[in-house]
Amino acid sequence: MHWRCNYRCAYCFFDGHWEEYGRRFLSKSTPEWLACWSRIQERCGRAAVNITGGEPFVFPDFIALACGLSRLHWPINISTNASLLSDEFMAAADPQRISVSVSFHPGYHQPAPFLERLRKLRAAGFAGCNNFVAFPPQLGLLPELTARFQEIGESLKVVPFIGTFQGRSYPEGYTAEQKKLLGMSDDWAERKRRKGRPCLAGQRSALLLPDGNVARCGQIGDRRIIGNIFDPGFAFLAQAEPCDVELCPCDEWKVIPDEKAPDQAGAWIS
Ligand code: SF4
Repeated sequence: MHWRCNYRCAYCFFDGHWEEYGRRFLSKSTPEWLACWSRIQERCGRAAVNITGGEPFVFPDFIALACGLSRLHWPINISTNASLLSDEFMAAADPQRISVSVSFHPGYHQPAPFLERLRKLRAAGFAGCNNFVAFPPQLGLLPELTARFQEIGESLKVVPFIGTFQGRSYPEGYTAEQKKLLGMSDDWAERKRRKGRPCLAGQRSALLLPDGNVARCGQIGDRRIIGNIFDPGFAFLAQAEPCDVELCPCDEWKVIPDEKAPDQAGAWIS
């Protein structure tokens, strides 16, 4: 949606770049965005949409935009830090079409109020996962936090930290003990290696950037812009292309629906 957020977590991909990236933003009204997505629906059919940021709920008029979008495209998954989840959103959004994944950030959240908000969200029918970034200084919180989530019947999805901390590069830098705690197998990097393999990213899926540019995928980003979504002539790639990055750590290639099981599209998000 945008590179803007009401939090400043040290382990975020965008740490240190918020000012610079935040300026890259296309100001369009909700009707203009919905007209654009309506054109996409007419030309390409229904899409599964994953909404991330920054923090999506900081986006102007976000609730009306998400609800309007869900009348055109679904399933939609929203990734949020949960700080701005409101009764208004829960009353307006359709949980059959929109799921909500929340992230627990120890620098900003206390378990009790966070879990109460989560319980309310799930009681309103919104599915989704509960993320926790395995940033090395906060790994010690994991056992107790896992237990607290389990007490309300929820599980925690532990996301490996990708970046550098105290001179070590992660996720390769986790110790054997830490990898065991995170459930990371020794062949993690090998399983994420996609370089050279044909990938449908850009043909069947894409990453929409805050300025309307459409990138092939999140790993490749600005190196492979395939067009701008507001361009009336915008088109996806004609065919699969080889992956040109070493690792696909978020398994983004898996968002692409299986031709033989199209209903599986978006299933990876929950
Ligand atoms: S990084 Fe992942 S999604 Fe992107 S081209 Fe490679 S395999 Fe496909």
